[in-house]
Amino acid sequence: MSQTRLLDRFLEYVKIGSQADFRALTYPSSPGQLEVGKLLLKELHEMGLDESFQDEHGLVHALIPGNPAAPAIALVAHVDTSPESPGDGVKPQIINRYDGSDIVLEGSKKVLSPARYAELANYKGKTLITTDGTTLLGADDKAGVAVIMETAQRLLETPLNHGPVVLLFTCDEEIGHGVDHVDIPEMGVACAYTLDGGPAGELDFATFSADRADVTITGVNIHPSIAKGKMVNAVRLAGIFLERLPRATLSPETTEGMEGFMHPYEITGGVAQAKVSLLLRDFQTPALDQQENLLNEIARQIEKEFPGAKFEIKRTIQYRNMADGMAKEPRAVALAEQAMRNAGVDPKLTSVRGGTDGSRLTERGLPTPNIFCGEHNAHSLDEWCCLEEMEQSVNTVIELVKLWALERD
Ligand SMILES: [Zn+2]
Repeated sequence: MSQTRLLDRFLEYVKIGSQADFRALTYPSSPGQLEVGKLLLKELHEMGLDESFQDEHGLVHALIPGNPAAPAIALVAHVDTSPESPGDGVKPQIINRYDGSDIVLEGSKKVLSPARYAELANYKGKTLITTDGTTLLGADDKAGVAVIMETAQRLLETPLNHGPVVLLFTCDEEIGHGVDHVDIPEMGVACAYTLDGGPAGELDFATFSADRADVTITGVNIHPSIAKGKMVNAVRLAGIFLERLPRATLSPETTEGMEGFMHPYEITGGVAQAKVSLLLRDFQTPALDQQENLLNEIARQIEKEFPGAKFEIKRTIQYRNMADGMAKEPRAVALAEQAMRNAGVDPKLTSVRGGTDGSRLTERGLPTPNIFCGEHNAHSLDEWCCLEEMEQSVNTVIELVKLWALERD
């Protein structure tokens, strides 16, 4: 029964378009996010959580009161969806008791096939929710939103020993601004959990450490007719610079697992000046210094070969490996692992080749691992999610809340 309610919630949320928008000058970056927030607020009020509110940035806050002797924890999910595929007008398809065959996406007539996505074979007999092939689904992260809302309702309906549980729904996570307006001391929690992950058992406790490098290349411009011996072309220098970056190693195209990379992702400019921007990524934070050193070596060498050329490298911190900050509250991960076992789920500690709201919260002093909620093929037209995994996620979080109720600070 309650699994039906969980599904209904999810379907209600994905129908509201709430894609984040890189170009917007507002916060949140799209009005749909405010709309999802308003709906959540209405539902929280209906559950009896009268003090819930949507703040001036669009974030929705709620508190499920509990035994004050137990440490408070927070559950966090984001209401925006990825800008990387069309995200408005989502028409979910529900596949009951999936039989393991190709799933025809009715809007595009393309198929979601186990031949392409082998993991589908593990989902025979389950309830899958897909798109119609013309948009993403938005299970990232509305599966997490639905899991948290359903967990809240079950905690309120069931007499259960638990501590205070803070609920937080953020905006613009997909464009890196999910926790810009989160006041950590105000939350007053020992740790937080994001619900924004893949298959059952996934427990993300480590992420990349991440910086950006902006390389400004200054040349010497002069009319091409009289350029002999005088012109130093920044466009050409940018090409040479890119050519000398490692490719067989240290590139996203050639690495996986725990390997880091340097990823040139944008290039702009002209003869006088060009700019190349790169993402620097590694699980070991000091390795980012080595990546910067390598960029500097390449730059200095090109300057030597092309007198008049000048390379300036500016490095900006983006986020830090979540694992670095997790030591502060070892119970955050340990209790989540135990909660999964108590819910009959086999925990798999995972390192994410990216960042999460949790990386930023952890870096700012609030340890925040990420718990699965059944998302698959995020950001794509082939996105789908599994209702039974969402249900396992709810059960995990309830077990987690019960475990935290036994802890004392
Ligand atoms: Zn997400």
